[in-house]
Amino acid sequence: MLATGIRSVRNVGKFVIGLNAMSELGPLLDRRRLPDGGRVVFFVDQWFKGRRTATLELPSVQSDFIFYVRTDMEPTTDYIDSICEDLIKVGLDSPVAIVGVGGGTTMDVAKAVSNLLTNGGAAADYQGWDLLRRPGIFKVAIPTISGTGAEATRTCVMTNPQTGLKLGMNSDFSVFDVILMDPSLTATVPRNQYFYTGMDAYIHCMESLAGRYRNAVGDALSRETLNICRDVFLTGDMMDLINREKLMVASYLGGCAIATSYVGLVHPLSAALSVVLGLHHCVSNCIVMRAMEPYYPEGYDEFWKMVEHQSISIPVGVASSLTDSEYQRLYEATTMHAKPLTNALGEDFLTHLSFHRVRELFKQM
Ligand code: NAD
Ligand code: ZN
Repeated sequence: MLATGIRSVRNVGKFVIGLNAMSELGPLLDRRRLPDGGRVVFFVDQWFKGRRTATLELPSVQSDFIFYVRTDMEPTTDYIDSICEDLIKVGLDSPVAIVGVGGGTTMDVAKAVSNLLTNGGAAADYQGWDLLRRPGIFKVAIPTISGTGAEATRTCVMTNPQTGLKLGMNSDFSVFDVILMDPSLTATVPRNQYFYTGMDAYIHCMESLAGRYRNAVGDALSRETLNICRDVFLTGDMMDLINREKLMVASYLGGCAIATSYVGLVHPLSAALSVVLGLHHCVSNCIVMRAMEPYYPEGYDEFWKMVEHQSISIPVGVASSLTDSEYQRLYEATTMHAKPLTNALGEDFLTHLSFHRVRELFKQM
């Protein structure tokens, strides 16, 4: 057993869960706008553009700013910098609140912009651990897809296109002040995407419970997250209203769990697929599960049972016939993640992960 080095853990200050949780947003923002108005910046997943459904009535006023976040690519440090520059240009350097409405991508953008507006400089300056000097703008998360736990964690993942580094602003200041979890918002997620993102919660917790770095509270949260995922994905329809609410809970608890521990072997391999082949985080995790039988035998069996039960299609053959230099890049992008690999395989993880072994794993995907 290894010490995580994580000595104190901060959680989100307040949450509301249940149908109509969105209705709390208006009064909450009104209180922030006192005494003399005050503007709010909304980051909304671009999927909702032009599709303002009854469930997504944003309590915005004319002086507010609504920014539609693109989700075809995962957030880059340049993207965060350019959003902040745009906000400063229109006099929004200190809004009274920032609201992120969407999945992991949108919530991470909201967190990163909130931090950067008060700390100054460039997003890349804060990629790492505890580099932010002051709290960000008051921020609210409204998840519209469940699984990553981004609503609960103390990071916001960004890729730096100059260095290739995929790393967040890990800080207590990256924790949202309030989360509103309204299961009516996840009804429109495409089924495969719902499964891929939902499985991020399952995979995080499966990896931490099998790991060497442990935290007693994190273990309890992880166990419950796995139980809820089993309920959602191995019984009836994963997307009925009750299961959508349950998955919101699993995502939140899974996010709290991962804040106390580390992921394992799936995430480094998945990050390599994202960096080298441009595949998105959650579908990459599911692709990596094709090669995980020797490492997580029980999780492997359960995962594929869930895939079958919900009739999900997982891409296959994405890395079966690449060039030597692509496999070399995949190898390097995998083995750079020392902490999760130590968690999964021990400090001598490189002896288990030769170039040939890693290439063999990718070929099975
Ligand atoms: P996402 O935010 O990229 O959204 C996935 C897709 O679902 C997009 O096409 C989006 O438009 C669509 N979508 C979202 N809500 C919808 C709705 N209600 N109806 C229809 N379509 C909808 O996906 P994600 O899987 O939630 O997040 C992935 C990102 O999260 C990655 O960038 C990853 O690095 C990051 N992440 C962050 C943390 C963290 O702790 N901050 C943890 C894990 C992953
Ligand atoms: Zn993940």
